[in-house]
Amino acid sequence: MKVNSKIVSLQLLAAGYCKHAEFITIRGGSIGNAIFPAGFACIRHPEQGVILFDTGYAHRFYQETDSFPYSIYARITPVTVKHEDHAVQQLVSTDINPNEVRFIVISHFHADHIAGLRDFPNATFICSKKSYDAVRTLTGFRAVRHAFIPALLPDDFEARCIQLDDVGSTLMPEGLPFNVGHDIFQDGSLICVDVSGHAVGQLGLFVETEAHEYFLCADAVWSSRAYREARSPHPIAGLIMSDRRVYQESFNRIVELYKLKPKLRIIPSHCIEVWSQFIQGDELL
Ligand SMILES: [Zn+2]
Repeated sequence: MKVNSKIVSLQLLAAGYCKHAEFITIRGGSIGNAIFPAGFACIRHPEQGVILFDTGYAHRFYQETDSFPYSIYARITPVTVKHEDHAVQQLVSTDINPNEVRFIVISHFHADHIAGLRDFPNATFICSKKSYDAVRTLTGFRAVRHAFIPALLPDDFEARCIQLDDVGSTLMPEGLPFNVGHDIFQDGSLICVDVSGHAVGQLGLFVETEAHEYFLCADAVWSSRAYREARSPHPIAGLIMSDRRVYQESFNRIVELYKLKPKLRIIPSHCIEVWSQFIQGDELL
C-alpha cells in the first residue's frame, strides 16, 4: 500500500519554538509549559529542485506582533526564534541559496507556518484554496482569532500562489483512510491530502525517501504520542480549531494510518519527540 512512486530527499528542520501548557495539546499532558518546535521540511526533488513544507517562525513574527491586537497572539504563545534558526539561514548553512527554493507547500496559514515566506522571492506557493479563502480577508481581531497575521504574506502572494481545489483529483491507494489527494507534480513524488479541522483546508503531505515513507501531518496531531495512544487534545484546544468535529475525523484518520502502516514516519509539525530524534539527533532520513 505505497503512496508515493518517486523518491525525493528530505530534511526535517525547525525554525524557533513557542511555549504553552502541554495539557491543552494532549489528554493527560502536564499543566506546565512545554516546548513546541515550529517544524518545517526541506525536500529536494530530482527535477523540481528545492521545495519547502512550511517555514516555521522568523523574526518578522516579533515585528508584526509588536502592536495591538496582534500582540495578543505573542502574549498567548511566547515565541523564541534566533537569527540562525530562520528557515532561510538554515538553508544557507546547508548551501542552499534562498533564490533556489522553487516551491513552498503551505499546510495552513497559522503564523508559525508562514512567518518565513517573505524570505524566498522565487518560490511559488502551493496551498489549498479552502485554507486561503478562510484567511484572505481577515484583519485585526478576526485574524488573531485564527492565528493569522496578514503582513507575513508577501505582497505578491496571490500572483505566486497555486491554490488546490477542495477535492483532490488523485485516487489514493485502496484501504488508506484518505480517498483522494493531490499529486502535486503528477509524478507520485509529493502527494497532499486534506487534514482539515485544526485549520480549514489544512494539507498533509506524503513523501518517500530512499530509506523511509513519511507523512508530514502538520497540526492534525500535535505529538507522536497523540496518534500512537489515540489521545486527542483537551476540549480547550477546540477554541483554536476551525471545526472540532472535522478535527476529530482527521485525527482518527491519522490514528488509523498509523495502525495500517506502522513503519510510516508520521511527522507532526510541533512534536518534541520528532525534534529530538530527527532534528537535533540528526538521524539519517
Ligand atoms: Zn496551526
